[in-house]
Amino acid sequence: MSAEPNEGKWSARIGALRDATPLLREASARAERLKRLEDHLREHEAEYAAALNADLGKSETEAWLTEIGFIIGQSRYARRHLREWMRPRRVSLPAVARPGRGRVVPTPLGVVCVIAPWNYPLHLALAPVVAAVAAGNTVVVKPSELAPRTADLIASHLPTVLGTDICEVVTGGAEITSALLQERFDHIFYTGGGRVGRIVMEAASRHLTPVTLELGGRSPAIVCADADLSVSARRIVWGKFVNAGQTCVAPDHVLVEREVADRLISLIGDEIEAAFGADASTSPDYGRIVNTHHVDRLTALIRDSGASAVIGGQVDRDARYIAPTVLVEPDASSSVLADEIFGPVLPIVVVEDLDAELTMLTKGPTPLALYVFTGSDERARKVLELVPSGGAVVNHTLLHLAVHELPFGGKGESGHGSYHGRAGFDRLSHLRSVLQRPTRPDPRIAYPPYGRVAQRLLRRLTG
Ligand code: NAD
Repeated sequence: MSAEPNEGKWSARIGALRDATPLLREASARAERLKRLEDHLREHEAEYAAALNADLGKSETEAWLTEIGFIIGQSRYARRHLREWMRPRRVSLPAVARPGRGRVVPTPLGVVCVIAPWNYPLHLALAPVVAAVAAGNTVVVKPSELAPRTADLIASHLPTVLGTDICEVVTGGAEITSALLQERFDHIFYTGGGRVGRIVMEAASRHLTPVTLELGGRSPAIVCADADLSVSARRIVWGKFVNAGQTCVAPDHVLVEREVADRLISLIGDEIEAAFGADASTSPDYGRIVNTHHVDRLTALIRDSGASAVIGGQVDRDARYIAPTVLVEPDASSSVLADEIFGPVLPIVVVEDLDAELTMLTKGPTPLALYVFTGSDERARKVLELVPSGGAVVNHTLLHLAVHELPFGGKGESGHGSYHGRAGFDRLSHLRSVLQRPTRPDPRIAYPPYGRVAQRLLRRLTG
């Protein structure tokens, strides 16, 4: 006999949130809540920027571009397109279902649980919330305990801003998240590492709850010999060192063709200095590592890399500072080339035969992002065709996230399910099929017993 999974201490609250979903039936109600969120973020921008600075040393500009402004933009875009997204989508009918009307009607799922990581602690907690509310759901949000200042702000503001009738915030560490996962939600939207992703999926299976997993992985930047090297270097440096490398879609490492490797390495060194000065610890635009555990992990990666040359490499453990660091040709068996780095350390792997290297890439876990730098559309097309990834950008890094209508998500080890813009709305909606038929005509011949004529007719109308 199979036992029903236990529901825990939040079940009554989650039940109330589920009962509240009719409050968001109309587009105007959803838009109103989203507008409140935007107004709140604008009014309290300085407060959020200070929290992000305390947690991750984010500059005001980065806090706006990648967190506060990003959410405002996502929310405004959702508000503007809400009516269009909510509209039933007509489908054409096969002869056997005519006359009639076929529609796909997006309906809310119910209560969406959002579990967020620490690296973009506001963005990654609120972007799924925007999608969830746009789709008419209520939400339970669990911010990351590793970005405590931002988590506290989210906990103290979000329920009142969105309305306590549709939003709950739960704070705490792994134990609390585990307890929360005992509950029955209608969708769990998890962003973070694959280890916890597996725990989330296992817990969700007990209630048959659907999940979206936004995970990470080693996203390579591939620089072909025909690339515009100076622009490539600038864009790789920007994508790698924003948020001190703690970005799920940061270029993890560079694969560069031998003939242009020296030039690219020297340009990357120049670009680091141009962006952050000779001593990045004094740059207002350079962030800090989230905690000393990660400082120690990254320090060991640099120390044990066996690189033939190192740019940067300075560490100040107490200040949680690691300089923008480039590791030239690390040892092939070093840890820095094995796992996702998730910090300001950029290994450069020089390749003799790029095609052979790409074939190797296809055998590993699917990365969240793939970056290809080349002057040739044909070359870019071939690389994209060969190497799978969650998303891809040709001749830039990270920027696909800024395009509302490009679904953002992983594949395989980098996760499943996409969001942003309409993809987020669809992901957190149930796309309900509705077929409506008139009662007349209703020819008796279409029902059993089937005579020879009916058989012939039905065979012609179907298949
Ligand atoms: P994290 O440690 O903050 O964990 C994320 C969430 O999981 C937190 O809310 C935490 O409370 C919870 N958690 C931690 N341990 C748990 C446990 N044992 N049981 C249940 N819940 C638990 O974040 P992280 O995992 O260090 O995040 C970094 C990873 O996230 C990287 O791999 C990165 O690539 C990935 N990431 C992916 C995206 C994306 O959009 N795809 C974005 C950011 C980060």
